[in-house]
Amino acid sequence: MAKKISIIIPVLNEENNIAVIYTSVKNLFPPESGYSFELLFIDDGSTDDTLKNIKQITNVDPNILFVSFSRNFGKDNALCAGLRKSTGDAVITMDADMQHSPTLIKELVEKWESGYEVIYYYREMQKNRMSLFSTVFYKTLNMLSDVKLENGISDFRLMDRKVVDALGQIQEDNLFFRGLVKWVGFKQIGLPYNPDERNSGKTRYRTKMLVKLAVNSIISFSTKPLTIAIYLGFIFSLLSALFIPYAIYSKINDLAISGWASVIVTIAFFGGLNLMILGIVGLYLGKTFMQGKNRPLYIVSESNIESS
Ligand code: UDP
Ligand code: MG
Repeated sequence: MAKKISIIIPVLNEENNIAVIYTSVKNLFPPESGYSFELLFIDDGSTDDTLKNIKQITNVDPNILFVSFSRNFGKDNALCAGLRKSTGDAVITMDADMQHSPTLIKELVEKWESGYEVIYYYREMQKNRMSLFSTVFYKTLNMLSDVKLENGISDFRLMDRKVVDALGQIQEDNLFFRGLVKWVGFKQIGLPYNPDERNSGKTRYRTKMLVKLAVNSIISFSTKPLTIAIYLGFIFSLLSALFIPYAIYSKINDLAISGWASVIVTIAFFGGLNLMILGIVGLYLGKTFMQGKNRPLYIVSESNIESS
């Protein structure tokens, strides 16, 4: 039997991209290619004609499946839904906006056939100021987190069925997919690529989102910030111990009245440090709180897949 490739595409308000991505993916898998395919659109609460356009295609092509969420649950949860519903021997996740060029799918499948179980693309960096910033950013991130991510790692990847089954079981609030895929292990390889221009519409990821993603990627994968907080505590209590002989010395020599500046600076500094560490502890506590509720990752309002 021909091996089956599932292609999962999360979509949020991509009405003008559906037909384009469908055509380019379908053309990659003609019957003589030796593979069968299914294309799974996960509609992540679109408010434009995205769902309507998807349904139009599902009417003419039985290989096209869709799951529509009751509201926007975020791209990572959409990806998770896609993995759970997919049936292929290999699963490819990609964006709808043609930034992940469908022509690269051939390379993904070849690498998979050669034995790799996870093949992901990362953005090749041009040397400029922005890339310096993002290199520093990823270096810091990797230092603080337990999973190592390449600078510019993308959600364009192929995963073997084994990997997909492992990932599908994960019930984690605020999923961070790029990290999780690394975390599950298996035989992985990263390939460089150059993202194309967006076909139509605008990106949804702003700086605020990226910062949120960064914090999440650290908190989800490691407790290093807590360890750092403890070390800071130790270091500063040791340093403050040096104040004691100084205070006694001042007292003996009648110098005790001066020192307003040092007191204010110390109070301000430790006040800030306390709040910061309390905040870090709070972030972890918040995560436990959200996880404790055990809410589903997403709610499906409509789908053409049976048993969903
Ligand atoms: N997307 C989604 N849910 C969201 C945000 C984005 O399903 O909450 C989809 C979007 O439709 C696209 C992909 O995720 O297919 C990547 O989004 P975008 O192009 O906005 O991100 P960028 O390429 O700028 O990282
Ligand atoms: Mg994009």
